[in-house]
Amino acid sequence: MRREVFHADHEEFRKLVREFVAKEVVPNYPSWEKAGRLPRSVFEQLGSLGLLGMAVPEEYGGAGLDDYRYNVVLQEEAARALVTLGTVRTQLDVVLPYFLAYADEAQRQRWFPGLASGKLLTAIAMTEPGTGSDLAGIRSTAVRDGDAYVLNGAKTFITGGLLADLVIVVARTSTDPENRRAGLTLLVVEDGMPGFTRGRVLEKMGIKVQDTVELAFDDVRVPVANRLGEEGAAFRYLGHNLPQERMTVAVGSVAQARAALEATIAYVKEREVFGKTVASFQNTKFELAAVAAEIEAAQTMLDRAVLDLVDGELSGADAAKVKLFCTEMQARAVDRCLQLFGGYGYMAEYPIARLYTDARITRIYAGTSEVMKVIIAKSLGL
Ligand SMILES: Cc1cc2nc3c(=O)[nH]c(=O)nc-3n(C[C@H](O)[C@H](O)[C@H](O)COP(=O)(O)OP(=O)(O)OC[C@H]3O[C@@H](n4cnc5c(N)ncnc54)[C@H](O)[C@@H]3O)c2cc1C
Repeated sequence: MRREVFHADHEEFRKLVREFVAKEVVPNYPSWEKAGRLPRSVFEQLGSLGLLGMAVPEEYGGAGLDDYRYNVVLQEEAARALVTLGTVRTQLDVVLPYFLAYADEAQRQRWFPGLASGKLLTAIAMTEPGTGSDLAGIRSTAVRDGDAYVLNGAKTFITGGLLADLVIVVARTSTDPENRRAGLTLLVVEDGMPGFTRGRVLEKMGIKVQDTVELAFDDVRVPVANRLGEEGAAFRYLGHNLPQERMTVAVGSVAQARAALEATIAYVKEREVFGKTVASFQNTKFELAAVAAEIEAAQTMLDRAVLDLVDGELSGADAAKVKLFCTEMQARAVDRCLQLFGGYGYMAEYPIARLYTDARITRIYAGTSEVMKVIIAKSLGL
């Protein structure tokens, strides 16, 4: 169906990304998956092509085009080639917006050129072993001591944490028994700060090309100059930025569902059973027709929300609806597609198996489907 999201500039950008993915990503992807991480060199290559600094203001080495549609194109083109660029996506779609919105001038000068060039890799650490969905329950503490905060705590499930040079850590700087959301602060922890250590690289069932790690903070002295935004304001900042993070998951979900459909159409036209192609069975046609219709419904909803996001008008509840619908659609679609591969669909060498295992996370991270329903229900006055 006709999409009304992109303009000529986005399509030019798409060509550049498509070429990059085909030449630099696809041939190396299996070895990166085996290593369990995207190498630093990918960020530097993307940076040198200008793909990481689109939203970074020109005076710091970026393009000054803060337009989320470029991020959408990047994900769509990766999915189209049956790969994902998870840690790049986290840096661009999730972490960079915090820097853009809350960094002061000195921080902009220190960090923005490296973010645009791909020399500085980032992560964001909200989740703790004891708290994920309930972010107001964060227990890591940061106690002011002169010109620094002394940070203690543990974070888990941190995407890109293994190579990150800068980690935005959400920590508690004060406690208000009347308001659990008050007193959270964003601190930028730098690689090499004494007391900052990386723990296990967690072994996952899918999205193997991105690292997910535990981080520990033991009396880390984080200069006050590394605080992002105001002390105690982090919950408000998260509320402002999490809708884009959720959209990003939805963008990947729809693009990967589409990739699954295309891979399946190609497969069923080739595979013969009972002397005819799998495509010739009415069940196959009906299954794929239903998947195609679901993808278009999700795409239309998503595109509407992308435009709202670009206009600065996307509400948290609408982002939650989009994440809920698109990720659940992806799960149904990928499962139906895999079924049509028969036993081959269960084999890791077939991309549909990877699309299936990669899909499972989208209903969990950036807020689970249940948390999305809680947010939507609240908007209904329930
Ligand atoms: C691969 C991966 C990458 C991640 N990357 C990052 C990252 O980079 N940075 C980061 O900070 N975090 C990251 N996360 C953490 C992720 O956002 C959390 O796992 C997620 O928010 C859920 O939190 P939890 O795992 O603690 O589950 P829990 O909060 O323990 O939830 C357990 C179950 O309870 C349900 N539940 C919770 N609250 C309610 C409710 N009110 N009503 C009904 N049901 C409820 C949940 O939906 C879930 O089914 C990542 C996680 C994974 C797995």
